Amino acid sequence: MTKQVKIGNLYIGGGNKIAIQSMTNVPLGNFEKTKQQMIALQQAGCDIVRFAVTDKESCKNIGNLKQFVTMPLVADIHFDASLAISAMENGVDKIRINPGNFPKDQLKKVIDSAKQHDVAIRIGVNGGSIEKSLNNLTHEEALFLSLKNQVEEIEKLGFYNLVLSAKSSSVLKTVKLARLLAKNFDYPLHIGVTEAGPLEQGAIFNAVGIGSLLVDGIGDTIRVSLTADPVKEVEVAKTILSATEKGVGATFVSCPKCGRCAQDLEFYANSVYNFVKTLKKPIKVAVMGCEVNGPGECASADLGMACGKGKVAFFKKGQVYKIVDETDALQLFIQEIKDFDAD
Ligand code: SF4
Repeated sequence: MTKQVKIGNLYIGGGNKIAIQSMTNVPLGNFEKTKQQMIALQQAGCDIVRFAVTDKESCKNIGNLKQFVTMPLVADIHFDASLAISAMENGVDKIRINPGNFPKDQLKKVIDSAKQHDVAIRIGVNGGSIEKSLNNLTHEEALFLSLKNQVEEIEKLGFYNLVLSAKSSSVLKTVKLARLLAKNFDYPLHIGVTEAGPLEQGAIFNAVGIGSLLVDGIGDTIRVSLTADPVKEVEVAKTILSATEKGVGATFVSCPKCGRCAQDLEFYANSVYNFVKTLKKPIKVAVMGCEVNGPGECASADLGMACGKGKVAFFKKGQVYKIVDETDALQLFIQEIKDFDAD
């Protein structure tokens, strides 16, 4: 088990719940848009939000943004150490620095400020920004060494409130690197496949990468990187946690439908799924096409529906408790889920 690290009002590592994080994709200087995006992310189930800091002026928005969300705020810093200090002075809970472009002579100043403001630091190396001095090494060796050197420098300054990450756009390299970090450090790990592409590809790359690590017990906070609305990152992250049985929200089951089902199962499944994924309560829901696998899947679900000829059977904990007409089935089933959730 890793150490526990405090980030604002949240603890990660040390066996705590795996935190979902995402990143805003609008300039921090645009207060309204940043605020709206942060609120939407939190409502979707995001636990930690990061934003790019590119100028000192926009750091003045940090304090105001904290009034609209309870999630810890993280400043993403590249090139300019003074931006890290400005972000900390304005109230961020964590900063992310990248050894590939961080000015080493400024490290002490930044660490002193992190100590003073009780701010955590993620050292995040990335395949897209490897230190030039390590160019003679392989991709993985360079990323690992870059991170290790920076951890040692920071520890020498007496600072240990660290989270680590080593990311690549290659799923296999990401997994290999994270395993290497887990073997060599006991700081919490931030995992995810970086620059993973648009929604469809990015979701799959991240599911394979993050999922492989989570089933091995590696990873304390996850970020699904997508070229898409950041809320989608949170939705995909929740699904990965559900698939690896690490999540706290809903689990959804539906069959692919075959010729035995004469009803619009795809519509039922999508409608129920879109509702269920917004729930915070751990609930398992099944939407099934017929009596072949319907009763079996519904048996392990809190609530289930299985189609028949013009009728739909509702299951609660494996027992049929209601049979309704197919025309009313969807609306009535969603109401049943609402009642269960409110119970
Ligand atoms: S549950 Fe029934 S409808 Fe769904 S795939 Fe299986 S056999 Fe086909």
